[in-house]
Amino acid sequence: MGFFRDSMAMFTNYSLPFKYRTQETEDIHTFHFEKPADFSYEAGQYGLFKINHEVLKNKTKPFTISSSPDEDTLSITTRVGSKPSPYKRALMNLNVNHSLSLKGPIGTFNETPATGQIFIAGGMGITPFRAMIKSAAFNKVPSKITLIYFTDDEEPLFKDELESYEKDGFVTLHIKTYDRFSELDQYISDDGSARYLVAGPDQFVTSTFTQLISKGIKKKHIKKDVFYGYK
Ligand SMILES: Cc1cc2nc3c(=O)[nH]c(=O)nc-3n(C[C@H](O)[C@H](O)[C@H](O)COP(=O)(O)OP(=O)(O)OC[C@H]3O[C@@H](n4cnc5c(N)ncnc54)[C@H](O)[C@@H]3O)c2cc1C
Repeated sequence: MGFFRDSMAMFTNYSLPFKYRTQETEDIHTFHFEKPADFSYEAGQYGLFKINHEVLKNKTKPFTISSSPDEDTLSITTRVGSKPSPYKRALMNLNVNHSLSLKGPIGTFNETPATGQIFIAGGMGITPFRAMIKSAAFNKVPSKITLIYFTDDEEPLFKDELESYEKDGFVTLHIKTYDRFSELDQYISDDGSARYLVAGPDQFVTSTFTQLISKGIKKKHIKKDVFYGYK
C-alpha cells in the first residue's frame, strides 16, 4: 500500500515558490516555501526537491518535510557547512523569484504520535519527529511520547521548541551526545507495548536497530527512516 502510494506520488510535480529562510543554529537553516494548494502530506513524510534556478549535476535530493501540515509554509531543514555541496550552495542562493520542484509526499514514517511510542533521532534525524510532535501539539492529540535525541551540536536543532512541547506534556525529552549512546538501553523495554521509530543517517539507524533487536524488541515494532546520503 505504502509502495503503491509512493509510486503514484512520483508522477506529480509541484512547484514550490521560495518564500524565506530562517537560520536555526550556526550552520543549520530552514527553507520555507509556499505550500501548493493541491498538495497534502502527513507529518514525518519526505519529498524529492529539485533545484531549477542553477545548472547542477545532482539537482534532486530527498528531504524530510520539517514543517507540520498545519503550518503556513512547507519547509526543509539542513546543515550548510563551510564547504557546501553545489546543491546546498544553490539552496542558499534562493530568492523570492525562484521555485524548487517537488515530487511526493513519500514514506510511511508518518504515525500519529501516541503514548508508548519511543522516537529515537540521530542528529538531523530530528526533522520528521519535529514535524510529528508539532502536529500532535497543534491538534492537541493526547500523547506522551519519549524522544531520545542524540546530537553533538552545542545548540541542538529545535531544542527550544521541543522543550516547549515537553512543558505542555506532549513529549518527554532526552537530549544526549553520541558518546552516551549506551544510555539508550535504559529506555528500551521488551514488554511488547512500546513502538520504536528511529531516524537519522544510515550508520546511526543501523546501530540503533541492532541495539533494539539485541534487547528483544520485535522487528515489527521498529520503524526506520534512513537518511541515505547524509554524512
Ligand atoms: C528519506 C530521507 C530524508 C532526508 N531528510 C533530510 C533532512 O531532513 N535534512 C537533511 O539535511 N538531509 C536529509 N536527507 C539527506 C539529503 O538528501 C542529503 O543527502 C544530505 O543533506 C547531504 O546533502 P549534500 O548536498 O551536502 O551531500 P553531498 O553532495 O553528498 O555532499 C556531502 C559533502 O561533500 C562536500 N561536497 C560534495 N560535493 C562537493 C563539491 N562539488 N564541491 C565541494 N564540496 C563538495 C560538501 O562538504 C558536502 O557537504 C534525507 C535523505 C533521505 C533519504
